[in-house]
Amino acid sequence: MSEMLTIALSKGRIFKDTLPLLAHAGIEPVEDPEKSRKLIIGTNRDDVRLIIVRASDVPTYVQYGGADLGVAGKDVLMEHGGEGLYEPLDLQIAKCKLMTAGPKDASPVQGRLRIATKFVNSTKRYYAEQGKQVDIIKLYGSMELAPLVGMADMIVDLVDTGNTLIANGLEPWDHIADISSRLIVNKASMKMKHDTVKSFINMMEEAVKKQ
Ligand code: AMP
Repeated sequence: MSEMLTIALSKGRIFKDTLPLLAHAGIEPVEDPEKSRKLIIGTNRDDVRLIIVRASDVPTYVQYGGADLGVAGKDVLMEHGGEGLYEPLDLQIAKCKLMTAGPKDASPVQGRLRIATKFVNSTKRYYAEQGKQVDIIKLYGSMELAPLVGMADMIVDLVDTGNTLIANGLEPWDHIADISSRLIVNKASMKMKHDTVKSFINMMEEAVKKQ
């Protein structure tokens, strides 16, 4: 590879789970983003650098060419809409489910459901497909709280073990989508840096198979 590749990642689970895949492709960051305040992190390879952004900003950086590639959760991609992006590879990391959830033993709601979530677009789409009209309350986190204080009838959130729901007296209801992280690619980079991008995708594909 000779052209520079910029890869957008978010801290936490995605970074941690992407590291072994990058290592398989011979790419190792020179700094730990969990410890560094730097937003651009170099790697052992002169032609690959990482940028560290908010998880929900990864598709935006890739869409507008701030990065050639990125790793984003399917939940984030469903909210973003996927405009200007290719999604060539399921990395099979950070798996969980997007689900509806509500209070245990809740009695049926009369009238329109009030749903608290940060996944507004996915929730709208899910209920629109069922022909149901719902009121969505946008939150940025701790959705579990909304039903507990009577602000919403239910929530739409990511569920992994289900422990967060249980700890708050909630239970999972309907499955909306299986979630995992995806490799995404800027459409122009795919064209202009085709061989470099393609060989990176191939290496990541190999790494996924071996993990
Ligand atoms: P759990 O208690 O294991 O069901 O985890 C649920 C909490 O962790 C929720 O608040 C989710 O927002 C978060 N979570 C679980 N899995 C993921 C994931 N793959 N990506 C991002 N957040 C997650």
